[in-house]
Amino acid sequence: MQDLAQQPSVIRDYYDGLAAGRFVASACRSCGKLTFPPTGCCEHCGSWDVEPRALSGRATLLYASHNITPACHPRFVAIAPYVYGHLRVDEGPIVQAIVLGVQPTPQDLQRLFERGPVAAHAEVLQMDDLPVLAYRIAG
Ligand SMILES: [Zn+2]
Repeated sequence: MQDLAQQPSVIRDYYDGLAAGRFVASACRSCGKLTFPPTGCCEHCGSWDVEPRALSGRATLLYASHNITPACHPRFVAIAPYVYGHLRVDEGPIVQAIVLGVQPTPQDLQRLFERGPVAAHAEVLQMDDLPVLAYRIAG
């Protein structure tokens, strides 16, 4: 039986990259577009001809809200309540992630909305079981 840990895995490579502070998308050799977080198949054209591409970590916050329900996974209980949002990374893809640097209150979210669009930079939250992508907004 083949050891699964020895097989190539885009997902394992993504999390290994996060653990090392790298943000890696998959770049499509057919259409040239990026998928982030990466997948083995291009989300734009369906091609499996993709390769890893490092991202700068720079992004623009498009939308932010806070979790008003219990954390969606036990790994997030310790940091709840938190802000999450949609960000456009400078290289193109739009990603959902936890947003750092703003409190999950209506007043802080209102101030953030009035400032928008806001620059942000990728960070890694080292959770108990996995590194998790987050973006910190510029002060
Ligand atoms: Zn493609």
